[in-house]
Amino acid sequence: MARVTSTWTEPSNTATALLLLGRGSDPASERGVDCPGDLPAPSDPDLVARATAAKAALGDRVFVLGHHYQRDEVIQFADVTGDSFKLAQQAAARPDAEFIVFCGVHFMAESADILTTSAQRVLLPDLAAGCSMADMAVLGQVETAWEHFEDLGIAGDVVPVTYMNSSADIKGFVGRNKGVVCTSSNAKRALDWSFEQGGKVFFLPDQHLGRNTAVLEMGIDLEDCVLYDPHKPKGGLTDEQLRDARMILWRGHCSVHGRFTLESVDEVRERVPGVNVLVHPECRHEVVRAADYVGSTEYIIRALDAAPAGSSWAVGTELNLVRRLALAHPDKQVMFLDKAVCYCSTMNRIDLPHLVWTLEELVAGRVPNQITVDADTAHHARIALNQMLALP
Ligand code: SF4
Repeated sequence: MARVTSTWTEPSNTATALLLLGRGSDPASERGVDCPGDLPAPSDPDLVARATAAKAALGDRVFVLGHHYQRDEVIQFADVTGDSFKLAQQAAARPDAEFIVFCGVHFMAESADILTTSAQRVLLPDLAAGCSMADMAVLGQVETAWEHFEDLGIAGDVVPVTYMNSSADIKGFVGRNKGVVCTSSNAKRALDWSFEQGGKVFFLPDQHLGRNTAVLEMGIDLEDCVLYDPHKPKGGLTDEQLRDARMILWRGHCSVHGRFTLESVDEVRERVPGVNVLVHPECRHEVVRAADYVGSTEYIIRALDAAPAGSSWAVGTELNLVRRLALAHPDKQVMFLDKAVCYCSTMNRIDLPHLVWTLEELVAGRVPNQITVDADTAHHARIALNQMLALP
């Protein structure tokens, strides 16, 4: 079980209310919700100067990572930006940095802790920065599903695959059961490898990435994919469905990418003739099918870099990134795929006051919001991560 070492408190019954307030802890989540300390006021006109001064005072002792979905006010202080996997690799490539300040969400900070040395400390400026998708697969639920596969006699034929966007507990489960972690960039390679090991794949926690990769990239029939619902007895599936399936998809999704619909695609095509629709594979199957291009966050960035001047793009991913891409490409028309504004609310928890507070605490000799993964979980999660790195 991954824990926040400095601030973990016992679960309470008012987790949701506490989450909204940014106080306490949430027993149903992979992250805490506590935010101790005196945060600077968001209206403080000196926030930029304070962050600059604190970072300068810390020098090479601190390395700040910024996920692409972070706010501009935070990204300006990142030493490197990237998707979750690139940032974990960057953290591992900086063994001399005493503190890794992870401007992203909880599961990413866990991965950084797993991949960095024991002398390094990984900090998350706001512990309420979790991920709703990662929260949809809790270890106890996944173990119950696996026991059911064992009772049915199919577990020996099932290879568990988890998306990077999952808790350390789930990565540890996958490592223990000879599976692999994947990202949205290498999901097909991970599935190719997994099908060579066994006849079935148990894909966690994002049903859409699993289905889109299996059906659209590997040619597996939609009928060969079943959806395992952890809130229903036996996943809501018959024994026959589980025995026959090639892909057993966990019922999880991203609450940001899941918002895009076929209507969003139809509407933008009607409104902007010739528009290119570019989406992330966490989008629903019908949206990905209707799009012109599909790929990871890094793919989306590269596609827009390479796009000709004057071209139009409707992009189906998180809004902070789409806004930055629009500003970076004034010679192209870059717009959000949906009319409704859609930030990732947990990514947005990390703001400049939280970053200033974290850096100033470090300058004062205190280590706030450290994320640690216990040794056994980290060991098995590392096996699954290393298997990903070793994919052919
Ligand atoms: S964008 Fe989706 S997958 Fe990424 S952190 Fe937010 S909820 Fe999780």
